[in-house]
Amino acid sequence: MNLIDRITAIYQKTFGYVPAHIIRAPGRVNLLGEHVDYNDGFVLPAAIDRATYVAFSPTDAPHSMLVAVDFDQQATFSSDSIPTKVQADSLPLPEWGLYPAGVMWALMEEGLPVLSMNAVFASEVPRGSGLSSSASVEMAFLLAWQTLGGWTLPPMQRALLGQKAENRYVGVNCGIMDQFASACGVEDRLLLLDCRSLAWKTVPLPEHVAIVIADTTVRRKLTSGEYNKRRAACEEAVRLLQQDLPHIQALRDVSVEEFNRLAGKLPAEIERRARHVVEEIERAKQAEALLEAGDVRNFGRLMNECHVSLRDLYEVSCLELDVMVDIAQSLEGCYGARLTGAGFGGCTVNLVARDCADAFARRLADDFHSRTGLQPPIYITFPSNGAELIK
Ligand code: ADP
Ligand code: MG
Repeated sequence: MNLIDRITAIYQKTFGYVPAHIIRAPGRVNLLGEHVDYNDGFVLPAAIDRATYVAFSPTDAPHSMLVAVDFDQQATFSSDSIPTKVQADSLPLPEWGLYPAGVMWALMEEGLPVLSMNAVFASEVPRGSGLSSSASVEMAFLLAWQTLGGWTLPPMQRALLGQKAENRYVGVNCGIMDQFASACGVEDRLLLLDCRSLAWKTVPLPEHVAIVIADTTVRRKLTSGEYNKRRAACEEAVRLLQQDLPHIQALRDVSVEEFNRLAGKLPAEIERRARHVVEEIERAKQAEALLEAGDVRNFGRLMNECHVSLRDLYEVSCLELDVMVDIAQSLEGCYGARLTGAGFGGCTVNLVARDCADAFARRLADDFHSRTGLQPPIYITFPSNGAELIK
């Protein structure tokens, strides 16, 4: 049974009637532009064809009741219980409930009407592997409340409210990319986002390639500490470079030429971190013309360069990610492979000729298993549309 039929059946069993609506909101993967969002750079994500689905209807009850199929749990909350993060019976919200409740909180902060709903939801986006299951849940519920509320926000506005919910209600310090990609995805296209102005456009991904995502299954702890150190190093680089370049606000404002000229003035570690960012922003800019020209080979080369830079300059890779990338780059049909997301574990993203994708996925899983003893889930995906009402 597919996921839509499954949540519809569970909805009917739980509430005794057929849900009025169904929404689909995808996860995402970033192809290029890693660790540049907080440096005002450019990122190049795609929404993927794995999504969270919510079946829902309005209700006259004072509270919303949500069933999370993947956790086999339910939660209730209302506008009164939102500020204290509790349920109708005063018990605390489960962790997963903070995401939809946070969306409700962000909408209430905007002064928008948020109607009570009965909802059942489930997802094909794996949790906690860097494909942004959290943003897909947020964008699904944002659109659900929009559907009931009689108001309409543009997709980027929905993304910003989802980010606000995650930053301020859930308490996770994420950038805008995840919610943006889940809200604004376009089938067969990659999304090029300027993280400073939030202007964005789409660029084509040639039909003959697939995006293959490989999960190392490794999850390193301590990553938020390392993440904060990288951010601090970038800020320090800006401060030091401002002595010669007083106009710069972020590493985004430093060209590769300027950086090469001034790099010797920076402490070695700060130089490595900043060099990754300056060169990665340049790669993301170059990607646009290459993809417009259908030049997957050179685009893949940029992805390979990105991995080396994340490994050696930004130092956010780990043994398992390096092994996964190393194997991928040796396999037939692979244009480019690199770690994706914050690093220290999680997934790699690979651009692979479509007719090689199945064999690539099998070989990658087998070779990775024989070198590490780990069984990696592998997802062959294509760029998909952003969050949408499908019923
Ligand atoms: P990711 O990289 O997948 O976004 P996060 O740690 O940011 O990882 O978000 C994962 C959290 O999002 C889960 O712990 C859960 O609270 C929520 N979530 C994700 N998917 C689901 C789901 N299918 N059902 C309920 N909650 C979910
Ligand atoms: Mg997340």
